[in-house]
Amino acid sequence: MSKDASKDAGALGPPGAETALDAAQVRFAKFLHRDSKGLAPGTAFSPAIIPTAIYSLASDPTGPYQYARWSNPGWTALEDALGALEEASAIIFPSGAAAVASIFASCLRPGDRLLLQADGYMGTRTAAERYCAPNGVTVTTCNTSRIAQHPFEGYRLILLETPSNPGLDLVDIRDCARRAHAAGARLVIDNTLMTPLGQRPLDLGADAVVYSDTKLFNGHSDVVFGHVVSRDPQLLEGVLDWRRVCGAIPGPFETWLVQRSLDTLELRLERISTNAMALAQAIDRHDVPVRVTYPGLLSHPAHELASAQMSSFGALIGLTLASKDTAEQFIQSCPFLRPTTSFGGLHSSAERRTRWGDQVAEGFIRLSVGCEPTRALCAAVVRSLDLLAAQARPLARPQA
Ligand code: PLP
Repeated sequence: MSKDASKDAGALGPPGAETALDAAQVRFAKFLHRDSKGLAPGTAFSPAIIPTAIYSLASDPTGPYQYARWSNPGWTALEDALGALEEASAIIFPSGAAAVASIFASCLRPGDRLLLQADGYMGTRTAAERYCAPNGVTVTTCNTSRIAQHPFEGYRLILLETPSNPGLDLVDIRDCARRAHAAGARLVIDNTLMTPLGQRPLDLGADAVVYSDTKLFNGHSDVVFGHVVSRDPQLLEGVLDWRRVCGAIPGPFETWLVQRSLDTLELRLERISTNAMALAQAIDRHDVPVRVTYPGLLSHPAHELASAQMSSFGALIGLTLASKDTAEQFIQSCPFLRPTTSFGGLHSSAERRTRWGDQVAEGFIRLSVGCEPTRALCAAVVRSLDLLAAQARPLARPQA
């Protein structure tokens, strides 16, 4: 996936232009074909769904499959695939929240300090406040815009998301990793908004990455899922032990659905990125009073960092309209916006975030851009903004 259409031109160019091939494209093509050759004749290319609780055991059990809370061949296939995407090892979970919980439970002990964003995904803060703080962990929060100045000394774990959800503010992962390690802390990045195709936190020094695969990874809005990736065997061992012992395990069918969705990830993200950029620009140009937040726009305060750190600008756009009513009217009037929560699906969707308690303006909408045909989607959104503008005009006229 590329932010810059001109970058792709080389990839489609004349023979000999291969040197211009985007490394990320080659990586994903190799990922797609990692099992294309060398299979025994008659082997299916897609993994089987194995719904079982038990396996046949020897008197002294050995081997990877002994009890289905510990392992399932479908999990192995998906974990191999997710690990291959980041040159790391992956551990899957039945939700993104469980992936985050596995990090908290395995990395933190009473007396430790945990740093989170005050304006990040609220579920992560809630989990920390309800289940880490009462067990003796000091939970500190800091606004994303202040993370660069916040000292990391004394923390055991720093868990950050970039861009933040829903404000779409950024942190510099490389700088945070350097400072965290100098302070003896671990840095974990929630990369749900980007996936490894849009941003590679492990390459920038993060110790582990967590994902809600409910969003872009699965991308079809029909599964709740999550995973952790890391290159640190000790960290992975703790996460795996927590899953085995506490039993936060995914079902075989859900596992297969995510596996099936993975192969279209690059295709979906390519369309989503194109759509998001086109929409952000079209909304920004519109004369309706609206503030657009999108890391791909020059006006975004961290656009320069976004360009350096991310290889796409993501699926989410923040829109601040004049009021709650204006925002609701916009969402309801646009035929190509599903009025729902969550993000990263094929279908564009939108919602006001104050309804869940996020500290944003009443008229703030988190718009999740989907895979609809680009011009049709932009035209529909612009028509809905036209309606708002037409209504606003008579009101703006001075009273006679
Ligand atoms: N991380 C982020 C950034 C999220 O937005 C979410 C959910 O919205 C989660 C984690 C939790 O994921 P799930 O809903 O799959 O449990």
